[in-house]
This record gives sequence, C-alpha cells and structure tokens, in this order.
Amino acid sequence: RPRVIPLAQHGVRREQISRAALKVTTRLQEEGFSAYVVGGAVRDLLLGVVPKDFDVATNATPEQVHHCFRRSRIIGRRFRIVHVMMGPETIEVTTFRGGSIHDTNETGRIMADNSYGTQEEDAHRRDFTVNALFYDPSSETIVDYQHGVKDLHARRLVMIGQPARRYQEDPVRMLRAVRLAAKLGFEIDPHTQKPIRSHAHLLKREPAARLFDEMLKLLMSGQAYACLMKLRDEGLSHGAFPLLDVVLGGESDDHRFLKLALASTDSRIREDKPISVGFLLATLLWRQVNQRWQSRQTQGERSLPALLHAIGDVEGEQDETLAIPRRYSVTMREIWTLQSRFDSRVGQRPYRFLEQPRFRAAFDFLALRAEAGEVPRALVTWWASFQHGDAEEREALMEDAK
Ligand code: ATP
Ligand code: MG
Repeated sequence: RPRVIPLAQHGVRREQISRAALKVTTRLQEEGFSAYVVGGAVRDLLLGVVPKDFDVATNATPEQVHHCFRRSRIIGRRFRIVHVMMGPETIEVTTFRGGSIHDTNETGRIMADNSYGTQEEDAHRRDFTVNALFYDPSSETIVDYQHGVKDLHARRLVMIGQPARRYQEDPVRMLRAVRLAAKLGFEIDPHTQKPIRSHAHLLKREPAARLFDEMLKLLMSGQAYACLMKLRDEGLSHGAFPLLDVVLGGESDDHRFLKLALASTDSRIREDKPISVGFLLATLLWRQVNQRWQSRQTQGERSLPALLHAIGDVEGEQDETLAIPRRYSVTMREIWTLQSRFDSRVGQRPYRFLEQPRFRAAFDFLALRAEAGEVPRALVTWWASFQHGDAEEREALMEDAK
C-alpha cells in the first residue's frame, strides 16, 4: 500500500544521514528489525535543509533497542523511547506506535500513546503528511503512506486524518502547524487551518511547561517574529498562550523593541550562533518591566530601586502563568537589573561593572534598547569605547561623561 520511492526520484543519499543515525539503523537491521530515519529529518533532507537531529523509528521494543546498544537508556514513563549515545550525538529511537482511539478521554484528548503498532499505524498517528516519511538508509528508499512527498513539493502542511479530531487529541499540534509553516515557508492547507480558531481555547488546558517548551521552539525557529504574528492571526495568541498574551498584549501596539530583538535572534539562529534563552526572555518581557520602571521613576523613585520593584511586579504577575524555569529566569533578572548601572560613569563603578560576568549580555541588551530609541546611542558608543580602551582612554571617557 505505501509508495516506496527510489533514490533516483528523491535524491536523498545515505551519506546525508549522520554517522550515528546510520549506525543505529544498520545495527537494528542486522538484528533483524526494521529501522528507518523518520520525521523532521527526512522532510528537511528532501527540502535541501541540513537536519537538526535524526530520529529513528523501529519495530523493536524499547527493551530490544536498549539491548542492541551499550550506551543507551530508556526514558519517559508514558512515552517510552530510547536514547542511543554515539560520540557527540544522541539518537532518539521510538518504537512504532499504534492507534489512539482507545486511549483518549471524554474530550478526545490523548491520554496514553504507548501501545505498539505497525509502521503504517505509526505513519498514521504522526501530525503532518510531510512528517510521516520513512527513509531506509540501506536501500536509500523513502516509504510514504500519506502522500507526504506530494505535499512537500506543493509546499503544503496537511494534517493526517481529521484535523479537528487531531487537535482535540493534542492541541499542541496547532502550534506545531504555525511553527512549521513559518519555518519551512509552507502554506497551511485550508482544511488543516480551518478548525484552529475554534479549537484554540483547548491550549489553556495544556501543562504550562509543555507550552513553554513549544514557545521556545517557536522562538528558536529562525522565523520568530513571523511565527508570533501568525499565531496572532490564527487566534492562538489570546488566552491560550500566556507568554504571548503578555508580549503582544497591552495598550500600545509598539513592537519596535520586540521586532528588533527577534530579528537579531533570527539572524543568529540562521548563522548557527548560540542563543541565550535568558537573554531572549529578557527581551520579550522588557516592555512590561520598562513601563513600570519609567513610571516609578517619574513618581520620584531612584533608578535602581525603581527597576528592582518593576522587576518584582512583573515577576509576581507572571510567575505562575509563564512557568519560566529557574535556569532562565535568573539570567533574565540579571540582565534587567544591570540596565540601571549604565548610567553610573564616574569613580570605580564603570570598572567594577566591566568585571561583572554578565556585563557583555547586559551591554548587548543596552544596544538593542538604543536601536529601539529608548536610550541615546551615545551611551552605547561610550560603553563600547570604555570596554576596549586603555587606561588613558578610559580616564578621558570618564572626564567626558562628567
Ligand atoms: P523540528 O524540525 O522542529 O525538529 P520535527 O517535525 O522533527 O520538527 P519533532 O518535535 O522533532 O518535530 O518531532 C519528530 C516527529 O514526531 C515529527 O516529525 C512528527 O512525525 C512526530 N510528532 C511530533 N509531535 C507530534 C504531535 N504532537 N503529534 C503527532 N506527531 C508528532
Ligand atoms: Mg525533530
């Protein structure tokens, strides 16, 4: 029943698969199992994009997979998968999963998804047709149950099965649709798109931590601003997605700072440069903090206490809804707090500031604020010169600042 597409038609060669993924599929096949590279990696290879990571699907159970690889471990309770470590790479190996009909609750939400199934069933439970392609490195063929290759060439994101039901099963699929469409430059098929608006409210019931993870993927897609705007257009940014409500909400529609910050994140991602999540979150929520900081100063509070109170206010309001993990919120708060120190340009203070481990991040943040017209550009130039100047130049700069 599936279409088996030969190399001559798709052009994806085995050398394009990572060494680790190739070893994993080869080893499993030697043990008599079937094993394929699956999901986003196959899609990306067909599009001529270098995949971020490689996932493998197999008919071997997690225990059998674990048995084949010395450096591997079974993870997850509800969705049991195997991580196989090979040098610097980790390959995620999942066992083909079966139907979900019996595992949904009264609202149609999937509760368990770990009954094993055939390859065909596994293709069927995936989200979009272009994500349901299997690549067999040993024969260099692609197995296509859902017309994924056709949709890929038409640059179209099509939900497998009945879209409304699939969103009920797992509302996060709506966010995936938006993210993948923006990331790949695909159109969301009309039938796939139509039910989104009326199902958006279902996201509210998703665990905050899962929404936060999905939000991060969105922001790290290399098309962050486009994604946010698309979420808003699809009615997914209101009430369902706490961080976005905060970021896009509010009385003013001034997204200058947000746009600049996201544009810089997007270009760093496309250039393969590292991204600090704490920094990114600091930019997203800065408008809230800055508004309160400014108004507290207008009311006579001094700069640093006003800033600390503003941060406290915002964190108090957002803490539970946003579920920002501590490892990020600490950096975020530091970057914010340091913004008040750029105004002290006399005595020992500028020297001490330079030695602060977060100086560089705080300075990059200041530069964004200047670009958005929030602080004078001259302040950024001053700190840039101070950073790189020798002792004499620094003294002169301090004189100028008086
Ligand atoms: P990315 O390029 O962002 O990694 P991806 O499609 O590989 O995109 P993953 O989250 O890595 O996304 O998921 C791997 C595969 O698992 C997907 O291609 C899809 O087949 C399947 N999948 C992931 N999430 C879901 C979901 N919520 N419902 C159904 N299938 C899913
Ligand atoms: Mg992936």
